[in-house]
Amino acid sequence: MATKKLVVIGNGMAGIRTIEELLKKAPDEYEITVFGAEPHPNYNRIMLSPVLSGEMKFQDTVLNDWSWYEAHNITLHVGKIVNKINRKDCLVETEDGVVAPYDRLLIATGSNPIMLPVPGINLPGVVGYRSIADVEEMLSRAEKGGRAVVIGGGLLGLEAANGLLMRGMEVAVVHLCDWPMERQLDKAGGGLLQSALEKRGMKFYLARQTEAILGDECVTGLRLKSVASGGDVEEISADLIVMSAGIRPNIALAKSAGIHCERGIVVSDTMQTEDPKIYSVGECVQHRGQTYGLVAPLFEQAKVAANHLAGGELMSYEGSSVSTKLKVTGIDLFSAGDFNPVEGDEELLLQDAARGVYKKLVLRDNKLRGAVLYGETVDGSWYFQLMRDGADISDLREHILFGQAHVGDSGHGGGSSVANMPDSAEVCGCNGVCKGAIVSAIVDKKLFTLEEVRAHTKASASCGSCTGLVESILANTLGGDYSAKPTKKPLCSCTDAAHAEIPKVIREQGIKRMPELMQALHWKTEDGCHICRPALNYYLMTAWPGEYQDDSRSRFINERVHANIQKDGTYSVIPRIWGGVTTPAELRAIAEIAERYEVPTVHITGGQRIGLYGITKQHLPNMWAELVEAGFVSGHAYGKALRTVKTCVGLDWCRFGTQDSTGLGIKVEKMTWGSWTPHKFKIAVSGCPRNCAEATIKDFGIVCVDSGYEIHVGGNGGIKVRVTDFLCKVETEALVLEYCGAFMQLYREQAQYMDRTAPWIERVGLAYVKQHIVDDAAGRAALYERFLESQRFSQDDPWSERAMGKEAHEYVALATIEQGAMQ
Ligand SMILES: Cc1cc2nc3c(=O)[nH]c(=O)nc-3n(C[C@H](O)[C@H](O)[C@H](O)COP(=O)(O)OP(=O)(O)OC[C@H]3O[C@@H](n4cnc5c(N)ncnc54)[C@H](O)[C@@H]3O)c2cc1C
Repeated sequence: MATKKLVVIGNGMAGIRTIEELLKKAPDEYEITVFGAEPHPNYNRIMLSPVLSGEMKFQDTVLNDWSWYEAHNITLHVGKIVNKINRKDCLVETEDGVVAPYDRLLIATGSNPIMLPVPGINLPGVVGYRSIADVEEMLSRAEKGGRAVVIGGGLLGLEAANGLLMRGMEVAVVHLCDWPMERQLDKAGGGLLQSALEKRGMKFYLARQTEAILGDECVTGLRLKSVASGGDVEEISADLIVMSAGIRPNIALAKSAGIHCERGIVVSDTMQTEDPKIYSVGECVQHRGQTYGLVAPLFEQAKVAANHLAGGELMSYEGSSVSTKLKVTGIDLFSAGDFNPVEGDEELLLQDAARGVYKKLVLRDNKLRGAVLYGETVDGSWYFQLMRDGADISDLREHILFGQAHVGDSGHGGGSSVANMPDSAEVCGCNGVCKGAIVSAIVDKKLFTLEEVRAHTKASASCGSCTGLVESILANTLGGDYSAKPTKKPLCSCTDAAHAEIPKVIREQGIKRMPELMQALHWKTEDGCHICRPALNYYLMTAWPGEYQDDSRSRFINERVHANIQKDGTYSVIPRIWGGVTTPAELRAIAEIAERYEVPTVHITGGQRIGLYGITKQHLPNMWAELVEAGFVSGHAYGKALRTVKTCVGLDWCRFGTQDSTGLGIKVEKMTWGSWTPHKFKIAVSGCPRNCAEATIKDFGIVCVDSGYEIHVGGNGGIKVRVTDFLCKVETEALVLEYCGAFMQLYREQAQYMDRTAPWIERVGLAYVKQHIVDDAAGRAALYERFLESQRFSQDDPWSERAMGKEAHEYVALATIEQGAMQ
């Protein structure tokens, strides 16, 4: 139980990264409260440009959704501006009177766009570029068409200009210098960038400053003055003006609390302000005289602050060097270090106008000091690494300009670039992820796709500019198993087709029979094998519920006879006990059957059922017939199907029970039994957080609480125990059923045959599951509907008839003949 209170002001990238790091180190140390001025959970601000240009949706930028805060017991106040820090009493207060006490305070208020102090700056139609609200305002104006003028030709200004161009506006950029992005590019690189953007239709007003914004009720134009001698003045029209003339650390609140600030909030190497209870991270910070405007250094700061807050071993932040990439699709640009040579420096240049490639490296004392790359940026992170290592590049000197693939084996790469990168080479600058960490994740966690690598390592998850490199590492590590899209690992030696291809082919070509499917996928064997037949049978069954005729030849003997073969060749029979609740009459019926067939062992299973062990094959049909007569159905105790729904006694009997967990368990089991899943599927319902039904190691776990039902997914109690991930909380039983059905359906549609939910979730990432089940209500409803539809058939098809024993004689006879390969 946390005893200390941590308050965070600023629900942005640096503040929340600090919390993520803190939760890794000391999850129970603090009771955390977060205040955010924006009305959203934490999102990836870097991706505002793709949202503006229409290449991404806002919901895809959300880094931590509401349920993340809930899962970690974080109190989140959105749309609340903190306007007072009372350091004497250790309290913060919002504009509308919410007060929160703190033992430790983290200020992460970011920065604000600089709004030039020119006449007309407050007119409607003048927008900064900082938040999703700014993007929404730009988009609503872009809908009407017209002309946008962006003031500032730096990184953000050009991304804004490009986005508005893609939204169909006429766009001009006004910039003070002679070429765009002069802080990252030399004149030659800037010129190339300018002409590439001009070809797209962007107009540049260079070496101009804005004298005034024109308009009475809203913006109509700008008055510009040339900075060249003479200072010509001209007026240009505008329907929208985007102010992108730089950022200023947001320090007003800290200043008003008497915290020492200069350009930013001054912090030490432990990210503490002069008040040791108050930490600060992000763009609002000034560290060793330096402020930062990119995420990589802020994430390093977050790590250090978290470590200190957690009371861990001493870590210190010593400042960062930064590199820049532009996120304009189709324009590759990289810049780092001092790219303007001073006396004594060497300059290596490559200019290939035909290919649109420009490279400039600046060397000093056999070390790389700076790099500008345009048109070909694949070696950017390698150059950046050499710079940060202060590596002696004498041995690489001859070929360094041509990139890592062309230099000899020098310990800093050589040969095929990715293969020869050392493990310590940084791949993702934003998140500080090295090649070694990516390779280990791919190998240890059996990752196959870019999304999986992102979910596990965060590499390529922020600005995305290292995506190509991460994909090369995937390809290099997986060899033949890798394909840039989903995994290409063949299902078995009968085919080259991967699991992922099969459902696609079934649906696209409307295939409803196994021989046709094998033909369409060019199967190498005539009849498949014990690996591929059950998989194909499963995929066909899930694609065409009610239409596809289940192929018993493709099932293992256990499934065919509704009994599990034991080590002495006898079988176990386990009838379904709904929610683990039975009656004297049921117990009497089972007892009498057990006596009649001289069952040697009657065992209470871990899944709250009664297992009858030691049954001979000849007795199976009659025994099942009698069980069915007594009202039982198969427990599918062997199947890739719903197994049990375990419950505790809940509200009716337990002093701590909060809801009717037993009744809910029975409802869930009645809804889900008979559903065929990629692997076995277990459910549990616990009546209170004491969790007697062990719901947090089940595929789908429900933990009842006073205010509703917590839903947990992806647990596993087998050889490799995995605790569930918290999905969300819902308020009614009806919603539990809906989430359960939708989750099972998503798993059936997306996972591969023989995937359990635990590795599946680890591969696709919890965020993916949340996106489909929690965030997208319509999508969830559709999944649930498809689940129910398929249940109508699987609870009423020959399988359940077999489960009822009607055809048991026939199937056992068949099984006896067919045993062989599938046994
Ligand atoms: C369009 C755009 C593109 C970018 N592209 C890149 C890129 O490609 N690469 C890169 O590395 N970086 C990029 N950046 C910069 C990066 O987004 C920032 O460095 C990062 O978001 C800063 O994190 P932060 O937590 O310091 O500030 P923010 O993410 O801005 O978070 C600060 C939060 O604090 C809130 N806040 C402020 N005052 C208060 C208060 N008094 N009470 C409550 N809440 C408050 C703010 O509303 C805000 O939500 C880009 C930025 C923008 C705007």
